[in-house]
Amino acid sequence: MKIKAQMTMVLNLDKCIGCHTCSIPCKNVWTSRAGAEYMWFNNVETKPGIGYPKNWEDQGIYQGGWTAENNRLALAAGGRVTKLARIFNNPHLPQIDAYYEPWDYDYGSLITSPVKKHQPAIRPRSQITGNSMEIQWGPNWEDDLAGVCETGAADTNFAGLDAQKYLEFEQAFMLYLPRLCEHCLNPACAASCPSGALYKRDEDGIVLVDQARCRGWRYCVSGCPYKKVYFNWKTGTSEKCIFCYPRTESGMTTLCSASCVGRIRYVGVILYDAERISQAASAADPKEIYPALVDMMLDPNDPKVLDEAEKQGISEAFLKAAQKSPTDKLMRKWRLALPLHPEYRTLPMVWYVPPLSPIQTGTENKNPDEALSDMRIPVKYLANLLAAGDEAPVRRSLKYLMALRAYMRSLRLEKTPDKSILDQAGLDGKLDEATVLEIYDLLAIGKHKDRFVLPTAPTPDQADMRMTQGEKGFE
Ligand code: SF4
Ligand code: SF4
Repeated sequence: MKIKAQMTMVLNLDKCIGCHTCSIPCKNVWTSRAGAEYMWFNNVETKPGIGYPKNWEDQGIYQGGWTAENNRLALAAGGRVTKLARIFNNPHLPQIDAYYEPWDYDYGSLITSPVKKHQPAIRPRSQITGNSMEIQWGPNWEDDLAGVCETGAADTNFAGLDAQKYLEFEQAFMLYLPRLCEHCLNPACAASCPSGALYKRDEDGIVLVDQARCRGWRYCVSGCPYKKVYFNWKTGTSEKCIFCYPRTESGMTTLCSASCVGRIRYVGVILYDAERISQAASAADPKEIYPALVDMMLDPNDPKVLDEAEKQGISEAFLKAAQKSPTDKLMRKWRLALPLHPEYRTLPMVWYVPPLSPIQTGTENKNPDEALSDMRIPVKYLANLLAAGDEAPVRRSLKYLMALRAYMRSLRLEKTPDKSILDQAGLDGKLDEATVLEIYDLLAIGKHKDRFVLPTAPTPDQADMRMTQGEKGFE
C-alpha cells in the first residue's frame, strides 16, 4: 500500500445558484493577463448544453482522456510515437472559436463622447486583433438555457434519452455545473506532454505546469478530457488551475470556494492508496471506475492507516486535516458526492453532489424510487454526467437527500421527528438520525471552518518544493 494525500473539492449542485461569483476572483487573480483573456480556470455552465469550449464532453471530437483495452491504459489520442509523428499538427486541438474570441469595449469613446441626441454606444472589440467583432460564443453562452434549443441536442449526457423531448418548453430542466481542473490522480494532461512539463505535486496532488519546461506543444490541451488546460498565445506556454496553491499552502481555501455565494463548495484532504490507480483507471467496464475510486480511498480515522501513513512520511498536519475533512465524508464515508465523467479514466478529484431538482408536488408521499422517476432532471442524465451511465449511485445519493429533507421537515416544522422516513428511504437502514443531522449540518448550514479544512504546516522537503515552484512559476 502506497499512501498519498490529495487535495479535493466537492460541489453541492443542489445549491448552486449560477451567480458566477466563483469565476470572477479566479479570473482577476490568475488569468487577467495578456494572452490569457479567453481563459477561465473556473467557469459555470448551464446543463443541458455543450459548454466551454464547445462540445468539450464529446471525446469523439477531441480524443481526450484514456482508453482501456484488455486492462491496458492508453491515451485516447495515441501515445508518444503518434504525438511525435504529428507534433506540428495536432488535429484534436480546440480552436479559439470553440472557446470564444475574447473582447472588451472602447470605454474611452463613451467618456469622451460629445453631447448627442442619442446615448453613445460602443461595439465589442477583439482583444486579439483589436478590430470590431460579432460576439458568437463565451464561457457561459448557454446561461440559464439560452439558445439551448439549438445546441442542447449535442449534449452527450442525453445518451439513452430523447433529447428533443427535454428541450421542449414544458419538459425543460436545468442545472448549473461549475467546472475547474479536476487535479486528477491519473492526469491525461501530464501523460500527453512531450516535454514533461506537467506534474502532480507529491504532497497534495495539485497538478501544475512548469512554465520553464513548457514548449507550447499543446498536447496537454487536447489530452485533458475536461479541457481545463489553456494555451497562452502571448507567452507560448500552457496554463491551468493551480488550486490556488499559494493560498492553500497557508491554510486558506481556494478563491472560487471562499467567494462562493451559495456555499456549495467543500475543500479538504483525502488519503488514498496510489498502488490502485492503474487498476481503478483501467477497469473493463467504465461503470466500475467510480466504485474502484471509492475503494482506493482510505479511512483517515483507521489507526492502521494512520500508522502506515506516518511511516510513509505523510505530515501530521495532512493527517489531522484528513481526519476532519468534509470532502472525505462526502466522497468516501457517505458516498453522496460523485466524480464528473469517471469514464474518461483520469480519476478526477473534484466531485459533485447531484441536484435533487425542484421538488415536485406530492413527491414526499411517494416511494423513493417512484419519486426519483418523477423528478424534473432525468436520473439517467445525471448518471451520464456523474457515474458513467450507472443510475445506482445517483439514485442512492438522491435518496439520501430526499430522506434528509423530509426528515428535517418533520423535525423542524411538525416538531415530531419521523424516523420511519429514514427506514423507508430504501437505504437498508444505513441512514440513522445522527448521520442525517451530521449531513444536514455540513450541507445545509456548514460553517466556513467545517467546509474548508486545509493543512498548514509543510515538511522541510515540501517547503523546498514550494520555493522551486515560486522561482519557476506564476509570477
Ligand atoms: S482535469 Fe485535465 S488538466 Fe486537470 S489534472 Fe485532469 S487531465 Fe489534467
Ligand atoms: S459562486 Fe457558488 S453558487 Fe455562485 S455560481 Fe459559483 S459555485 Fe455556484
